Amino acid sequence: MENRTIEPKRDPMGRAIADYHSTGKAAKLRVLSSMFYEDEIPVSTLFRTFGEMPPLEQRMMELSRGRVLDVGAGSGCHSLVLMERGLGVKAIDISELSVQVMRERGVDAALVNFFDETFVEKFDTVLMAMNGIGIVGKVERLPEFFRCAKRLLAPGGQLLLDSSDLRYLFEEEDGSFTVNLAAGYYGEVDFELRYKGVKGASFDWLYIDFETLSLYANEAGFNCERCADGEHYDYLARLTVK
Ligand code: SAH
Repeated sequence: MENRTIEPKRDPMGRAIADYHSTGKAAKLRVLSSMFYEDEIPVSTLFRTFGEMPPLEQRMMELSRGRVLDVGAGSGCHSLVLMERGLGVKAIDISELSVQVMRERGVDAALVNFFDETFVEKFDTVLMAMNGIGIVGKVERLPEFFRCAKRLLAPGGQLLLDSSDLRYLFEEEDGSFTVNLAAGYYGEVDFELRYKGVKGASFDWLYIDFETLSLYANEAGFNCERCADGEHYDYLARLTVK
């Protein structure tokens, strides 16, 4: 249904990735949101090696098998680790600049939007690292997400993803939990990236707690297993078609 891609002049993260790739350094990649104070993504972390990955991502690398699809692959860091381990990997991203960098790094990368229904290859592992399920944006879009995931999975295939429960942002000191239910699901965040003079369009990014994810996954015909827990309300999930 959707085949939006990001052109270089509206692509702060792609620019940062391209700069770091060609010069070994980059300026500040700034992250703005109406929900958080301004933050930054250290661009070098987008080029992390296996040893530099957080334990949940290392586990994700170890659980990957067969032919792998790396969704929203960025600089291709996970693809490269899996290729070194002898797996066949395809990387997709909507950033023209990132796809170009990945190709220069030897990754089989394609400019494809995950939600584009004309992309019909099948994979044994679909990988969504660094809260890759964020691309869903809003909870209401999860059914569409699961339809697309089903289309991409070979029989017996698995979807691996990490995400975080943002409830800690709303927890009071006594442990009670205050959210405005009318405002929608509490893990729905708006972000905007900036790099040098490049300002990206604002986008919706979903952080989802494991229980909500399982609920929607079950509804869509998936088993949802919690494989590991991170240090800060984050977790690794493995989903398979029932
Ligand atoms: N997985 C990488 C990059 C994470 S940043 C890492 O862990 O380092 C998220 C990436 O997802 C960006 O490169 C962005 O361009 C890409 N992206 C966003 N929406 C997408 C979509 N609908 N389909 C495919 N890629 C998408």
